[in-house]
Amino acid sequence: MSDVRRMLVVGGGVGGLTAAACFARRGVEVVLIEKRPTFDIPGVGLGQPANALRVYETLGLLDEILQTGFTYDRMHIFDAGRRLLAEHKFLLGDERIPAFCALSRLELHRILLGAAERAGVQIRLGVTASEISDEKDRVGVKFSTGESDTFDLLAGFDGIRSAIRHHLVGTAFVPRPSGYGAWRVQMPRPDFVRGMEFLQGIGSKTGAMPLNDDTMYVFHIRPEAPDAWFAEKDYASLLKERMSQYGSYVAELCATLDASSDIVYSPMEPLMLPWPWFRGRVVIGGDAAHTFPPHLTQGAAMAAEDGYVLAREVLNADVCMNDRLMRYSQQRYARCAFVYTFSRQWLDDEQSIHTPEQMEAARTEIAMNASTRIGASDRILNSPI
Ligand SMILES: Cc1cc2nc3c(=O)[nH]c(=O)nc-3n(C[C@H](O)[C@H](O)[C@H](O)COP(=O)(O)OP(=O)(O)OC[C@H]3O[C@@H](n4cnc5c(N)ncnc54)[C@H](O)[C@@H]3O)c2cc1C
Repeated sequence: MSDVRRMLVVGGGVGGLTAAACFARRGVEVVLIEKRPTFDIPGVGLGQPANALRVYETLGLLDEILQTGFTYDRMHIFDAGRRLLAEHKFLLGDERIPAFCALSRLELHRILLGAAERAGVQIRLGVTASEISDEKDRVGVKFSTGESDTFDLLAGFDGIRSAIRHHLVGTAFVPRPSGYGAWRVQMPRPDFVRGMEFLQGIGSKTGAMPLNDDTMYVFHIRPEAPDAWFAEKDYASLLKERMSQYGSYVAELCATLDASSDIVYSPMEPLMLPWPWFRGRVVIGGDAAHTFPPHLTQGAAMAAEDGYVLAREVLNADVCMNDRLMRYSQQRYARCAFVYTFSRQWLDDEQSIHTPEQMEAARTEIAMNASTRIGASDRILNSPI
């Protein structure tokens, strides 16, 4: 019989729900706490690559996700006027699994929540862990409600500001502002946008990702002061000004932006926590352990993979728990460190184009090498986990 009979998952995002469903489907009694009082997840859309879709397939969710989202198999890189620089056909997926399916974050969340509930996960909203105590082969938890309980394992998938990471490493490792920010807004999808695309500008990058037949989301990535804070009422005018060099649908979007536009802004704060990602019976995954620039669209995908691999390794009781959690940490660190390095370098390179001359050099380089470069990443990410 497994030595993990009852566990606590902290955080009900993509990683926490995936982990909870994976454990519960294997017979573990899972309690999931989420600090939000409702599941009204902010955010716009998520491109889910084949490696994430494979995890969702193990939960029986592939068809529902594919029916809900927009499937695509290539990306294009354009200049700011949407003149083509490179086309890349993803080397992700196989005969069953498409390279990508993008959908609204809210929809993905709804689907994962359904899987967790069907597997019997007890979900408690508006609750956090206010105290954690390491006990021999157990973990004690005091909840924000005042109740206490003990578990065989605590898995922290509580996002970028993780309290569980703080329990493990204090303030030694925290996400720090990179000096770049991401703006996002939805707009109607023109028929010609049929996959993910980047528009490389001078001093910034803009792009789009289809979410369904009618809608896509536009993102804009650029340097922003590390301590930048913007009033939401100013988002529309700030974004218009920032995207003024771009043509095509970006120019059309700018003409429509006003104070009622639903714009999301977030600073980029990359983090790659050195392993091990556990102590005693407390372990973390997802954004609590790693946050990446969004270029490979692998953040939620890695969180989902973490949840899946954690359940697989922990419930394979061939060695002691310490060795199982170490195995989880090592496997996940190697893969996530690749995503971190690749996307961080891509961000730095694209944001180093400051003059028309540098743009000319980038135009040539992208046309020559971008597809091969992204293909190398695809091969790594498409390999079995
Ligand atoms: C601009 C941008 C674009 C992105 N695009 C993509 C993309 O296209 N594809 C992709 O795969 N990824 C993308 N990502 C990354 C992705 O959003 C994250 O990596 C992913 O959401 C991480 O999932 P998670 O479950 O680890 O954390 P989260 O989604 O942050 O979930 C954590 C949950 O824990 C809860 N919580 C926090 N603290 C506590 C606590 N103390 N107690 C209880 N609950 C708590 C939170 O309320 C939240 O619900 C993007 C990110 C950004 C910023």
